[in-house]
Amino acid sequence: MSEAKRDADVIVLGAGAAGLMCAAVAAARGRDVLVLERNEAPGRKVLISGGGRCNFTNLRTTPDNFLSANPHFAKSALARFTPRDILDMVEAHGVSWHEKHLGQLFCDNSSKAVLGMLLEQCRLTGAPIRTGIDVRHARPSAGGFTVATGDGDLRCESLVVATGGCSWTQLGATDLGYRLARSFGLPITDLRPGLVPLILDGLDLALCVELSGVSFPARVSCGAASFDDDVLLTHHGLSGPAILQASSYWTPGAVIVVDLLPGVDLVEMFEIAAAKNVISVLARRLPKRLAHGWCARHGFDGRWADMTQREQDRLLATLCGWTLHPVGTAGYDKAEVTVGGVATDALSSKTLESRSVPGLYFIGEVVDVTGWLGGYNFQWAWASGRAAGEVV
Ligand SMILES: Cc1cc2nc3c(=O)[nH]c(=O)nc-3n(C[C@H](O)[C@H](O)[C@H](O)COP(=O)(O)OP(=O)(O)OC[C@H]3O[C@@H](n4cnc5c(N)ncnc54)[C@H](O)[C@@H]3O)c2cc1C
Repeated sequence: MSEAKRDADVIVLGAGAAGLMCAAVAAARGRDVLVLERNEAPGRKVLISGGGRCNFTNLRTTPDNFLSANPHFAKSALARFTPRDILDMVEAHGVSWHEKHLGQLFCDNSSKAVLGMLLEQCRLTGAPIRTGIDVRHARPSAGGFTVATGDGDLRCESLVVATGGCSWTQLGATDLGYRLARSFGLPITDLRPGLVPLILDGLDLALCVELSGVSFPARVSCGAASFDDDVLLTHHGLSGPAILQASSYWTPGAVIVVDLLPGVDLVEMFEIAAAKNVISVLARRLPKRLAHGWCARHGFDGRWADMTQREQDRLLATLCGWTLHPVGTAGYDKAEVTVGGVATDALSSKTLESRSVPGLYFIGEVVDVTGWLGGYNFQWAWASGRAAGEVV
């Protein structure tokens, strides 16, 4: 495509974390970049993230904190743009931050500071952002791509798809990225909501409704994945960080196993208080309402000393393996992320460029790389945006 016919060298679809990072990096290299965003304002997910304080990275990031059909795919980009790198950028822009929990870094004040940093980087490097532009599709055209928008066609040499996942449609999320990938012949893995509350039914739901609002630390497992953090009982079932983490691994039919007292020597705990009702022994370690409701749900009452070996074994097994059968998730509207995405086999792990369509890139959440709760999803957005921005 001749320069005269191009609207930009590089068009980036989506002004979220990944798209803005990519645009600023590419523009700093002297590329003529244009960002197209459907919302009237850029970075809406950045603004609501982390409860309004944007958990912008995690100091403990490793490739093991991500789900992907190819667990090695994220390694290259993550190694070349680390939590320290985004922290340097945050500090250079005077954004104050703090570490909250397990390496999670948050803004001291508002997520607006992180969005302000990204917009400033785009302004300084000369990457304009056009908002209120609904991108409908894109197709190859001589020497590049033609992007069809509600406001007409635009042409570019390289096209970066940074349109995010399906979660929180109320913030402008669309399935454009997946549709574009399919239209260019790139496969998509199965998609499902992740970091999402789980729905229960039957007696377990009744217990959650009765104890709605009760929260407690526990170990929650789904298959081989296991997380130590808080569980929250709700009117619909389970939530809280440990459940959100496990939910990304949950598929219909799978069970969630809750260890109510991880690391506690249960036999010793009961033996020491063998003459006391097990409910009151548990109420010393668990929220009282939970100890009572959970024992009633499972039919445990009476003194440890009076229980048969079989009853004692069942109590111990149920305490460290409370097995729950979710009937579903709270869906994309309540999910922080979409698990799955553009298949990593179809992309270069170094540049995020399509292997079959030169000049076409996919970055951020639209790719089949999904982070745990705790700043990992933004770290992937920065790292993948950066990797593509260096080469587009
Ligand atoms: C409530 C909530 C809180 C979160 N908190 C955190 C957190 O604290 N830390 C963390 O690491 N992660 C967090 N996440 C996840 C994180 O926000 C996402 O993983 C990250 O924003 C993905 O970045 P992205 O640039 O790939 O996509 P997005 O940020 O989703 O950006 C995609 C952009 O593309 C635009 N777009 C979509 N379709 C079109 C179209 N057809 N035409 C034009 N533009 C389009 C969208 O409007 C959007 O602006 C949170 C998510 C949610 C929902």
